[in-house]
Amino acid sequence: KDEVALDPWGSSTIADYRKLFEEFGIEEFDEILDEVPNPHYLMRRGVIFGHRDYRPVLEAMRDGDDFAVLSGFMPTGDPHIGHKLVFDEIIWHQQQGGDAYGLIADMEAHSARGISWDEINEHSRDYLLSLIALGFDTEEGELYRQSDNDRLQRLAFELGGKANYSEFEGIYGFDGETNISHMQSVVTQMADILYPQLDDPKPTVIPVGPDQDPHVRFARDLATRMRFFKVTEAFASFELDDTERPVVAAAYDAREEYADEPDIPRCGEAAEWLADANLDAAGILVEESVRDSAVEKLENAGMEPLRPRIRFFARQATDEAFEALIEEIDGEKRRYDQHIDAFDIDVEEAEDLAREVEAHHGGYGFIPPSSIYHRFMTGLTGGKMSSSIPASHISLLDDPEDGYNKVKSATTGGRDTAEEQRRLGGEADKCPVYELYAYLLTGDDDELAKEVYDECIGGERLCGGCKEQAATMMREFLEDHQEKREEAEAVLDSLDIDLET
Ligand code: SF4
Repeated sequence: KDEVALDPWGSSTIADYRKLFEEFGIEEFDEILDEVPNPHYLMRRGVIFGHRDYRPVLEAMRDGDDFAVLSGFMPTGDPHIGHKLVFDEIIWHQQQGGDAYGLIADMEAHSARGISWDEINEHSRDYLLSLIALGFDTEEGELYRQSDNDRLQRLAFELGGKANYSEFEGIYGFDGETNISHMQSVVTQMADILYPQLDDPKPTVIPVGPDQDPHVRFARDLATRMRFFKVTEAFASFELDDTERPVVAAAYDAREEYADEPDIPRCGEAAEWLADANLDAAGILVEESVRDSAVEKLENAGMEPLRPRIRFFARQATDEAFEALIEEIDGEKRRYDQHIDAFDIDVEEAEDLAREVEAHHGGYGFIPPSSIYHRFMTGLTGGKMSSSIPASHISLLDDPEDGYNKVKSATTGGRDTAEEQRRLGGEADKCPVYELYAYLLTGDDDELAKEVYDECIGGERLCGGCKEQAATMMREFLEDHQEKREEAEAVLDSLDIDLET
Protein backbone atom coordinates (compact mmCIF):
# COMPACT_ATOMS: atom_id res chain seq x y z
CA LYS A 1 0.00 0.00 0.00
CA ASP A 2 1.62 3.24 -0.96
CA GLU A 3 -1.06 5.83 -0.58
CA VAL A 4 -0.30 8.83 1.54
CA ALA A 5 -2.96 9.94 3.94
CA LEU A 6 -2.53 12.68 6.45
CA ASP A 7 -5.53 12.45 8.70
CA PRO A 8 -4.95 13.33 12.35
CA TRP A 9 -7.93 11.23 13.44
CA GLY A 10 -7.63 8.42 10.94
CA SER A 11 -6.11 5.02 11.49
CA SER A 12 -4.15 4.69 8.28
CA THR A 13 -0.44 4.07 8.31
CA ILE A 14 1.87 6.09 6.19
CA ALA A 15 3.55 3.60 3.96
CA ASP A 16 5.80 5.79 1.90
CA TYR A 17 7.56 8.49 3.82
CA ARG A 18 9.25 9.73 0.67
CA LYS A 19 5.92 10.98 -0.65
CA LEU A 20 5.62 13.22 2.37
CA PHE A 21 8.69 15.09 1.20
CA GLU A 22 7.37 15.47 -2.31
CA GLU A 23 3.68 16.07 -1.73
CA PHE A 24 3.56 17.91 1.55
CA GLY A 25 6.87 19.73 1.64
CA ILE A 26 8.14 18.00 4.75
CA GLU A 27 11.94 18.30 4.61
CA GLU A 28 14.39 15.48 5.21
CA PHE A 29 15.92 15.50 8.65
CA ASP A 30 19.15 14.04 7.32
CA GLU A 31 19.95 17.30 5.62
CA ILE A 32 20.14 19.20 8.89
CA LEU A 33 21.46 16.48 11.17
CA ASP A 34 24.95 18.00 11.11
CA GLU A 35 23.56 21.26 12.42
CA VAL A 36 22.08 19.67 15.54
CA PRO A 37 24.25 20.08 18.58
CA ASN A 38 24.42 16.77 20.39
CA PRO A 39 21.67 15.02 18.37
CA HIS A 40 19.33 12.58 20.07
CA TYR A 41 19.71 8.93 19.10
CA LEU A 42 16.29 9.01 17.44
CA MET A 43 17.74 11.67 15.14
CA ARG A 44 20.99 9.82 14.57
CA ARG A 45 19.14 6.64 13.65
CA GLY A 46 16.70 8.26 11.26
CA VAL A 47 13.65 7.54 13.45
CA ILE A 48 13.11 11.28 13.36
CA PHE A 49 13.09 11.50 9.60
CA GLY A 50 11.49 14.79 8.67
CA HIS A 51 10.98 18.35 9.75
CA ARG A 52 9.25 21.55 8.84
CA ASP A 53 11.33 24.67 9.35
CA TYR A 54 13.35 23.26 12.27
CA ARG A 55 16.38 25.50 11.62
CA PRO A 56 15.22 28.49 13.73
CA VAL A 57 14.95 26.14 16.71
CA LEU A 58 18.45 24.82 16.08
CA GLU A 59 19.82 28.32 15.79
CA ALA A 60 18.28 29.30 19.11
CA MET A 61 19.64 26.10 20.65
CA ARG A 62 23.14 26.83 19.40
CA ASP A 63 23.09 30.51 20.36
CA GLY A 64 21.60 29.94 23.79
CA ASP A 65 18.44 31.89 22.86
CA ASP A 66 14.93 31.08 23.98
CA PHE A 67 13.07 28.31 22.24
CA ALA A 68 10.28 25.95 23.19
CA VAL A 69 9.04 22.44 22.63
CA LEU A 70 5.43 21.31 22.96
CA SER A 71 3.52 18.17 22.24
CA GLY A 72 0.20 16.79 23.28
CA PHE A 73 -1.31 13.42 24.07
CA MET A 74 -4.81 12.27 23.44
CA PRO A 75 -5.72 10.19 26.48
CA THR A 76 -7.65 7.51 24.64
CA GLY A 77 -5.84 4.51 26.15
CA ASP A 78 -2.67 3.53 27.98
CA PRO A 79 0.56 5.28 27.01
CA HIS A 80 2.66 2.76 25.09
CA ILE A 81 6.18 2.48 23.74
CA GLY A 82 5.21 4.41 20.59
CA HIS A 83 4.30 7.42 22.77
CA LYS A 84 7.66 7.13 24.48
CA LEU A 85 9.25 8.56 21.32
CA VAL A 86 7.38 11.81 21.82
CA PHE A 87 8.07 11.86 25.55
CA ASP A 88 11.78 11.47 24.76
CA GLU A 89 11.68 14.23 22.16
CA ILE A 90 10.09 16.70 24.58
CA ILE A 91 12.53 15.81 27.33
CA TRP A 92 15.57 16.03 25.06
CA HIS A 93 14.61 19.54 23.92
CA GLN A 94 14.09 20.52 27.54
CA GLN A 95 17.56 19.24 28.35
CA GLN A 96 18.96 21.32 25.50
CA GLY A 97 17.58 24.42 27.19
CA GLY A 98 14.09 24.68 25.71
CA ASP A 99 10.93 25.67 27.55
CA ALA A 100 9.02 22.43 27.57
CA TYR A 101 5.26 21.85 27.49
CA GLY A 102 3.35 18.60 27.68
CA LEU A 103 -0.38 18.76 27.34
CA ILE A 104 -3.32 16.46 27.59
CA ALA A 105 -5.62 16.84 24.60
CA ASP A 106 -8.69 15.94 26.61
CA MET A 107 -11.10 18.08 24.60
CA GLU A 108 -9.95 16.41 21.42
CA ALA A 109 -10.26 12.93 22.95
CA HIS A 110 -13.80 13.71 24.06
CA SER A 111 -15.06 15.43 20.91
CA ALA A 112 -13.19 13.53 18.18
CA ARG A 113 -13.05 10.09 19.76
CA GLY A 114 -15.99 10.16 22.12
CA ILE A 115 -13.99 9.05 25.17
CA SER A 116 -15.81 9.54 28.48
CA TRP A 117 -14.44 12.03 31.00
CA ASP A 118 -13.82 9.31 33.58
CA GLU A 119 -11.64 7.40 31.18
CA ILE A 120 -9.91 10.58 30.11
CA ASN A 121 -9.00 11.41 33.71
CA GLU A 122 -7.53 8.00 34.32
CA HIS A 123 -5.47 7.94 31.14
CA SER A 124 -4.34 11.55 31.53
CA ARG A 125 -2.77 10.66 34.83
CA ASP A 126 -0.96 7.73 33.24
CA TYR A 127 0.48 9.82 30.41
CA LEU A 128 1.75 12.47 32.77
CA LEU A 129 3.27 9.92 35.16
CA SER A 130 5.23 8.32 32.34
CA LEU A 131 6.39 11.66 31.00
CA ILE A 132 7.68 12.66 34.43
CA ALA A 133 9.17 9.21 35.05
CA LEU A 134 11.14 9.47 31.81
CA GLY A 135 12.73 12.73 32.92
CA PHE A 136 10.42 15.69 32.29
CA ASP A 137 11.44 18.42 34.70
CA THR A 138 8.20 19.77 36.12
CA GLU A 139 9.91 22.66 37.85
CA GLU A 140 11.17 24.01 34.55
CA GLY A 141 8.43 22.86 32.21
CA GLU A 142 4.65 23.14 32.13
CA LEU A 143 2.05 20.40 32.02
CA TYR A 144 -1.60 21.18 31.47
CA ARG A 145 -4.87 19.80 30.21
CA GLN A 146 -6.70 21.70 27.49
CA SER A 147 -10.05 21.99 29.22
CA ASP A 148 -8.49 23.45 32.34
CA ASN A 149 -6.36 26.21 30.83
CA ASP A 150 -8.11 29.58 30.63
CA ARG A 151 -5.35 31.42 28.81
CA LEU A 152 -5.31 28.68 26.21
CA GLN A 153 -9.07 28.90 25.74
CA ARG A 154 -8.92 32.65 25.27
CA LEU A 155 -6.21 32.25 22.67
CA ALA A 156 -8.26 29.53 20.97
CA PHE A 157 -11.20 31.93 20.80
CA GLU A 158 -9.04 34.60 19.16
CA LEU A 159 -7.62 32.10 16.70
CA GLY A 160 -11.13 30.96 15.85
CA GLY A 161 -11.77 34.52 14.71
CA LYS A 162 -9.11 34.05 12.05
CA ALA A 163 -10.24 30.65 10.81
CA ASN A 164 -13.35 29.78 8.88
CA TYR A 165 -15.47 26.75 8.20
CA SER A 166 -14.38 26.21 4.61
CA GLU A 167 -10.81 25.79 5.82
CA PHE A 168 -11.96 23.07 8.19
CA GLU A 169 -13.63 21.38 5.24
CA GLY A 170 -10.54 21.67 3.09
CA ILE A 171 -7.95 20.68 5.68
CA TYR A 172 -9.79 18.12 7.77
CA GLY A 173 -12.64 17.03 5.56
CA PHE A 174 -15.22 18.29 8.06
CA ASP A 175 -18.77 18.25 6.77
CA GLY A 176 -22.30 18.92 7.85
CA GLU A 177 -22.16 15.95 10.24
CA THR A 178 -19.08 17.11 12.14
CA ASN A 179 -19.95 18.11 15.66
CA ILE A 180 -19.20 21.64 16.77
CA SER A 181 -17.08 20.54 19.73
CA HIS A 182 -14.75 18.81 17.32
CA MET A 183 -14.22 22.14 15.59
CA GLN A 184 -13.66 23.80 18.93
CA SER A 185 -11.06 21.18 19.73
CA VAL A 186 -9.24 22.07 16.50
CA VAL A 187 -8.88 25.74 17.40
CA THR A 188 -7.86 24.61 20.87
CA GLN A 189 -5.14 22.53 19.31
CA MET A 190 -4.02 25.50 17.24
CA ALA A 191 -3.84 27.45 20.47
CA ASP A 192 -1.78 24.65 22.05
CA ILE A 193 0.76 24.92 19.28
CA LEU A 194 1.12 28.68 19.72
CA TYR A 195 0.74 28.69 23.50
CA PRO A 196 4.49 28.64 24.28
CA GLN A 197 4.76 31.97 22.47
CA LEU A 198 1.97 33.71 24.31
CA ASP A 199 4.28 35.73 26.53
CA ASP A 200 7.31 35.86 24.27
CA PRO A 201 7.61 34.88 20.64
CA LYS A 202 10.22 32.21 20.24
CA PRO A 203 11.05 29.38 17.88
CA THR A 204 8.92 26.42 18.91
CA VAL A 205 9.13 22.83 17.81
CA ILE A 206 6.22 20.41 17.83
CA PRO A 207 7.41 16.77 17.77
CA VAL A 208 4.66 14.65 16.25
CA GLY A 209 3.89 11.79 13.91
CA PRO A 210 3.48 12.82 10.28
CA ASP A 211 -0.29 12.31 10.50
CA GLN A 212 -0.41 15.46 12.61
CA ASP A 213 1.13 17.60 9.88
CA PRO A 214 -2.21 19.19 8.85
CA HIS A 215 -2.43 20.69 12.34
CA VAL A 216 1.08 22.05 12.08
CA ARG A 217 0.49 23.61 8.67
CA PHE A 218 -2.75 25.21 9.79
CA ALA A 219 -1.10 26.56 12.95
CA ARG A 220 1.73 28.05 10.91
CA ASP A 221 -0.81 29.76 8.74
CA LEU A 222 -2.77 31.13 11.69
CA ALA A 223 0.45 32.29 13.37
CA THR A 224 1.11 34.50 10.38
CA ARG A 225 -2.46 35.82 10.33
CA MET A 226 -2.26 36.73 14.01
CA ARG A 227 0.98 38.60 13.74
CA PHE A 228 -0.38 42.02 13.10
CA PHE A 229 -3.64 41.42 14.86
CA LYS A 230 -3.45 43.85 17.73
CA VAL A 231 -0.69 46.14 16.63
CA THR A 232 -2.36 47.22 13.41
CA GLU A 233 -3.89 50.29 14.98
CA ALA A 234 -0.64 51.41 16.48
CA PHE A 235 1.12 51.15 13.19
CA ALA A 236 -1.79 52.75 11.40
CA SER A 237 -1.16 55.96 13.29
CA PHE A 238 2.08 56.21 11.40
CA GLU A 239 0.53 55.23 8.13
CA LEU A 240 2.97 52.40 7.81
CA ASP A 241 1.84 49.60 5.61
CA ASP A 242 2.84 45.95 5.68
CA THR A 243 5.94 46.51 3.61
CA GLU A 244 7.12 49.39 5.77
CA ARG A 245 6.78 47.61 9.07
CA PRO A 246 9.74 45.33 8.51
CA VAL A 247 11.62 48.36 7.27
CA VAL A 248 11.01 50.18 10.49
CA ALA A 249 12.11 47.13 12.39
CA ALA A 250 15.15 46.80 10.23
CA ALA A 251 15.95 50.35 11.11
CA TYR A 252 16.69 49.24 14.65
CA ASP A 253 19.20 46.91 13.23
CA ALA A 254 20.54 49.26 10.62
CA ARG A 255 21.03 51.92 13.24
CA GLU A 256 23.56 49.68 14.91
CA GLU A 257 25.18 48.68 11.70
CA TYR A 258 25.29 51.87 9.69
CA ALA A 259 25.50 54.65 12.22
CA ASP A 260 29.30 54.61 12.26
CA GLU A 261 29.73 53.90 8.60
CA PRO A 262 31.38 57.02 7.08
CA ASP A 263 30.33 56.25 3.53
CA ILE A 264 26.66 56.18 4.23
CA PRO A 265 26.07 58.65 7.01
CA ARG A 266 22.59 59.52 5.90
CA CYS A 267 21.47 55.93 6.11
CA GLY A 268 22.62 55.87 9.66
CA GLU A 269 20.72 59.04 10.28
CA ALA A 270 17.60 57.71 8.64
CA ALA A 271 17.80 54.52 10.60
CA GLU A 272 18.32 56.40 13.81
CA TRP A 273 15.27 58.46 13.16
CA LEU A 274 13.02 55.60 12.16
CA ALA A 275 13.99 53.63 15.19
CA ASP A 276 13.45 56.56 17.50
CA ALA A 277 10.18 57.60 16.00
CA ASN A 278 8.66 54.20 16.18
CA LEU A 279 9.72 53.60 19.72
CA ASP A 280 8.40 56.91 20.84
CA ALA A 281 5.10 55.99 19.37
CA ALA A 282 5.23 52.69 21.13
CA GLY A 283 5.90 54.42 24.39
CA ILE A 284 2.65 56.24 24.03
CA LEU A 285 0.45 53.60 22.57
CA VAL A 286 1.12 50.60 24.66
CA GLU A 287 0.02 49.60 28.12
CA GLU A 288 2.41 50.31 30.91
CA SER A 289 3.26 46.68 31.54
CA VAL A 290 3.99 46.06 27.88
CA ARG A 291 6.03 49.24 27.73
CA ASP A 292 8.17 48.11 30.62
CA SER A 293 8.84 44.77 29.04
CA ALA A 294 9.66 46.53 25.77
CA VAL A 295 12.18 48.70 27.58
CA GLU A 296 13.71 45.65 29.16
CA LYS A 297 13.87 43.84 25.84
CA LEU A 298 15.50 46.78 24.14
CA GLU A 299 18.03 47.11 26.89
CA ASN A 300 18.94 43.50 26.43
CA ALA A 301 19.27 44.06 22.72
CA GLY A 302 21.74 46.88 23.38
CA MET A 303 19.40 49.73 22.51
CA GLU A 304 19.89 51.83 25.62
CA PRO A 305 20.14 55.16 23.79
CA LEU A 306 16.45 55.01 23.07
CA ARG A 307 15.41 54.36 26.58
CA PRO A 308 15.30 57.92 27.89
CA ARG A 309 13.00 58.95 25.11
CA ILE A 310 10.61 56.11 25.75
CA ARG A 311 10.56 56.88 29.39
CA PHE A 312 10.01 60.54 28.63
CA PHE A 313 7.04 59.90 26.43
CA ALA A 314 5.72 57.29 28.71
CA ARG A 315 5.43 59.89 31.41
CA GLN A 316 4.30 62.71 29.17
CA ALA A 317 1.82 60.78 27.16
CA THR A 318 -0.71 63.56 26.81
CA ASP A 319 -2.82 63.98 23.73
CA GLU A 320 -0.99 67.16 22.95
CA ALA A 321 2.42 65.53 23.07
CA PHE A 322 1.10 62.77 20.93
CA GLU A 323 -0.26 65.14 18.27
CA ALA A 324 3.01 67.00 18.19
CA LEU A 325 4.91 63.82 17.77
CA ILE A 326 2.72 62.65 14.93
CA GLU A 327 3.26 65.91 13.13
CA GLU A 328 6.98 65.72 13.58
CA ILE A 329 7.08 62.18 12.39
CA ASP A 330 4.96 62.81 9.34
CA GLY A 331 7.28 65.56 8.19
CA GLU A 332 10.39 63.60 8.96
CA LYS A 333 9.05 60.51 7.35
CA ARG A 334 8.60 62.21 4.03
CA ARG A 335 12.11 63.56 4.24
CA TYR A 336 13.64 60.18 4.86
CA ASP A 337 11.44 57.99 2.70
CA GLN A 338 13.89 58.25 -0.14
CA HIS A 339 16.61 56.75 1.98
CA ILE A 340 14.74 53.63 2.81
CA ASP A 341 15.80 52.07 -0.45
CA ALA A 342 19.39 52.58 0.52
CA PHE A 343 19.08 50.04 3.32
CA ASP A 344 20.39 46.71 2.41
CA ILE A 345 17.72 44.85 4.30
CA ASP A 346 17.94 41.24 5.20
CA VAL A 347 14.26 40.40 4.98
CA GLU A 348 14.37 37.50 7.39
CA GLU A 349 16.18 39.52 9.99
CA ALA A 350 13.83 42.41 9.44
CA GLU A 351 10.84 40.16 9.97
CA ASP A 352 12.32 38.83 13.18
CA LEU A 353 12.76 42.33 14.44
CA ALA A 354 9.30 43.30 13.31
CA ARG A 355 7.89 40.44 15.34
CA GLU A 356 9.87 41.41 18.36
CA VAL A 357 8.68 44.95 18.10
CA GLU A 358 5.08 43.89 17.59
CA ALA A 359 5.05 41.42 20.38
CA HIS A 360 6.18 44.03 22.80
CA HIS A 361 3.79 46.57 21.48
CA GLY A 362 0.77 44.45 22.19
CA GLY A 363 0.69 42.11 19.19
CA TYR A 364 1.26 38.40 19.37
CA GLY A 365 4.33 38.39 17.17
CA PHE A 366 4.05 34.63 16.70
CA ILE A 367 6.85 32.89 14.88
CA PRO A 368 5.42 30.13 12.67
CA PRO A 369 5.97 26.96 14.68
CA SER A 370 8.37 24.26 13.49
CA SER A 371 7.87 20.53 13.65
CA ILE A 372 9.83 17.31 13.57
CA TYR A 373 8.36 13.98 12.48
CA HIS A 374 9.16 10.50 13.69
CA ARG A 375 8.45 7.17 12.10
CA PHE A 376 5.64 5.10 13.52
CA MET A 377 6.71 1.94 15.26
CA THR A 378 5.66 -1.25 13.55
CA GLY A 379 3.31 -3.36 15.61
CA LEU A 380 4.82 -6.44 17.28
CA THR A 381 2.41 -8.55 15.27
CA GLY A 382 3.36 -6.75 12.04
CA GLY A 383 1.18 -3.94 10.65
CA LYS A 384 0.40 -0.87 12.63
CA MET A 385 1.11 -0.49 16.33
CA SER A 386 -2.29 0.29 17.73
CA SER A 387 -3.62 1.01 21.19
CA SER A 388 -6.68 -1.04 20.38
CA ILE A 389 -4.69 -4.23 19.58
CA PRO A 390 -2.96 -5.23 22.85
CA ALA A 391 -0.58 -7.75 21.25
CA SER A 392 0.62 -5.14 18.75
CA HIS A 393 2.10 -2.84 21.36
CA ILE A 394 3.69 -2.82 24.76
CA SER A 395 1.98 -0.49 27.15
CA LEU A 396 4.21 1.38 29.57
CA LEU A 397 1.89 -0.06 32.24
CA ASP A 398 2.19 -3.66 31.08
CA ASP A 399 3.34 -6.17 33.64
CA PRO A 400 7.08 -6.57 32.86
CA GLU A 401 6.50 -10.29 32.40
CA ASP A 402 3.80 -9.62 29.80
CA GLY A 403 6.20 -7.25 28.07
CA TYR A 404 8.77 -10.03 27.99
CA ASN A 405 6.25 -12.45 26.52
CA LYS A 406 5.01 -10.02 23.88
CA VAL A 407 8.55 -9.54 22.59
CA LYS A 408 9.10 -13.28 22.61
CA SER A 409 6.07 -13.84 20.42
CA ALA A 410 6.67 -10.88 18.09
CA THR A 411 7.06 -11.36 14.35
CA THR A 412 10.59 -10.88 13.05
CA GLY A 413 12.46 -10.23 9.86
CA GLY A 414 13.99 -13.68 10.14
CA ARG A 415 14.21 -16.33 7.43
CA ASP A 416 12.27 -19.59 7.38
CA THR A 417 15.12 -21.74 8.68
CA ALA A 418 18.26 -21.17 10.71
CA GLU A 419 20.32 -22.41 7.82
CA GLU A 420 18.78 -19.86 5.49
CA GLN A 421 19.26 -17.12 8.05
CA ARG A 422 22.96 -17.91 8.33
CA ARG A 423 23.28 -17.89 4.57
CA LEU A 424 21.18 -14.83 3.67
CA GLY A 425 21.14 -12.89 6.92
CA GLY A 426 17.98 -11.56 8.58
CA GLU A 427 15.96 -8.59 7.38
CA ALA A 428 16.52 -6.17 10.22
CA ASP A 429 14.91 -3.33 8.28
CA LYS A 430 11.62 -5.21 8.25
CA CYS A 431 11.88 -6.52 11.79
CA PRO A 432 9.72 -5.13 14.62
CA VAL A 433 12.19 -6.60 17.12
CA TYR A 434 15.05 -4.68 15.56
CA GLU A 435 12.91 -1.57 15.83
CA LEU A 436 12.60 -2.18 19.55
CA TYR A 437 16.37 -2.16 19.81
CA ALA A 438 16.80 0.94 17.67
CA TYR A 439 13.90 2.99 19.02
CA LEU A 440 14.11 2.10 22.67
CA LEU A 441 16.15 -0.76 24.08
CA THR A 442 19.68 0.29 23.17
CA GLY A 443 19.08 3.85 24.35
CA ASP A 444 22.06 6.03 23.57
CA ASP A 445 24.31 3.07 22.81
CA ASP A 446 24.85 3.32 19.05
CA GLU A 447 27.43 0.58 19.09
CA LEU A 448 25.02 -1.96 20.49
CA ALA A 449 22.32 -0.95 17.99
CA LYS A 450 24.80 -1.31 15.17
CA GLU A 451 26.04 -4.63 16.48
CA VAL A 452 22.53 -6.09 16.50
CA TYR A 453 21.94 -4.79 12.99
CA ASP A 454 25.22 -5.98 11.52
CA GLU A 455 24.99 -9.38 13.16
CA CYS A 456 21.43 -9.78 11.94
CA ILE A 457 22.00 -8.92 8.31
CA GLY A 458 25.32 -10.78 8.36
CA GLY A 459 23.62 -13.99 9.43
CA GLU A 460 25.51 -14.28 12.71
CA ARG A 461 22.43 -13.61 14.79
CA LEU A 462 19.42 -15.91 14.96
CA CYS A 463 15.98 -14.72 15.95
CA GLY A 464 15.50 -16.95 19.00
CA GLY A 465 18.47 -15.55 20.89
CA CYS A 466 17.91 -12.08 19.55
CA LYS A 467 14.34 -12.03 20.85
CA GLU A 468 15.40 -13.46 24.20
CA GLN A 469 17.89 -10.60 24.59
CA ALA A 470 15.32 -7.99 23.53
CA ALA A 471 12.61 -9.48 25.76
CA THR A 472 14.91 -9.42 28.77
CA MET A 473 15.85 -5.82 28.09
CA MET A 474 12.18 -4.93 27.70
CA ARG A 475 11.36 -6.54 31.05
CA GLU A 476 14.12 -4.53 32.70
CA PHE A 477 12.99 -1.34 31.02
CA LEU A 478 9.40 -1.82 32.21
CA GLU A 479 10.47 -2.68 35.76
CA ASP A 480 12.64 0.39 35.94
CA HIS A 481 10.06 2.65 34.29
CA GLN A 482 7.27 1.53 36.59
CA GLU A 483 9.39 2.12 39.64
CA LYS A 484 10.04 5.64 38.41
CA ARG A 485 6.32 6.09 37.75
CA GLU A 486 5.64 5.37 41.38
CA GLU A 487 8.13 8.01 42.40
CA ALA A 488 6.50 10.40 39.92
CA GLU A 489 3.14 10.11 41.73
CA ALA A 490 4.17 12.56 44.43
CA VAL A 491 5.57 14.99 41.87
CA LEU A 492 2.38 14.90 39.84
CA ASP A 493 0.21 15.37 42.91
CA SER A 494 2.20 18.42 43.90
CA LEU A 495 1.32 20.12 40.61
CA ASP A 496 -1.73 22.21 40.09
CA ILE A 497 -3.42 19.98 37.52
CA ASP A 498 -6.99 18.92 38.06
CA LEU A 499 -7.26 15.28 37.02
CA GLU A 500 -10.53 14.61 38.76
CA THR A 501 -13.12 16.62 36.90
FE1 SF4 B 1 14.96 -9.42 13.90
FE2 SF4 B 1 16.85 -10.18 15.56
FE3 SF4 B 1 15.76 -11.91 13.85
FE4 SF4 B 1 17.35 -9.99 12.96
S1 SF4 B 1 17.90 -11.66 14.30
S2 SF4 B 1 15.41 -10.61 12.09
S3 SF4 B 1 16.84 -8.34 14.37
S4 SF4 B 1 14.75 -10.88 15.54
